[in-house]
Amino acid sequence: MGLIIRSSAIHAAGCYTTTAIRKGVRISEYTGYRLTKDQADEAYQESPVTYLFGLGDGSIVIEGHCMGMFINHSCDGNCETSEEDGRVWIKSIRKIAAGEEITYDYCLYDGGDDEALCNCGAANCRGTMYSPYEVKRRKAAATKAAKKAAKKSPRKKSQKAA
Ligand SMILES: [Zn+2]
Repeated sequence: MGLIIRSSAIHAAGCYTTTAIRKGVRISEYTGYRLTKDQADEAYQESPVTYLFGLGDGSIVIEGHCMGMFINHSCDGNCETSEEDGRVWIKSIRKIAAGEEITYDYCLYDGGDDEALCNCGAANCRGTMYSPYEVKRRKAAATKAAKKAAKKSPRKKSQKAA
């Protein structure tokens, strides 16, 4: 198996295979420094680009220093990540042809104000790199915030009137 990094139509640089890959193969390990969520939040507060991978419940994150950090998101990825004994592997979930870009679904969470727009071009593209669960959660939070704002404004008016 040969992996190369070159420019990608999805985003900046991407990871490509030079050989065909069978389904169910470990393609790359996501390695790097391990930080607590608090350490990562502090280190990346001002950074628009992160290569962080949340482990387990998300209390520990891997700060990527590996081939895996170049792998782009796709809503219809040819790989998935799998956590085995505290290590993260990027594994193929279907046959991948030589020359294809390696992708997996990032299922992002905890992105603050970042919209994390997706540019993958898949037929089932969600338009965002957030996980389906996170999309629901953010929608619910936005609705709640809008309701709260709606409740607040009449009070403001009455205060002004008084
Ligand atoms: Zn997409």
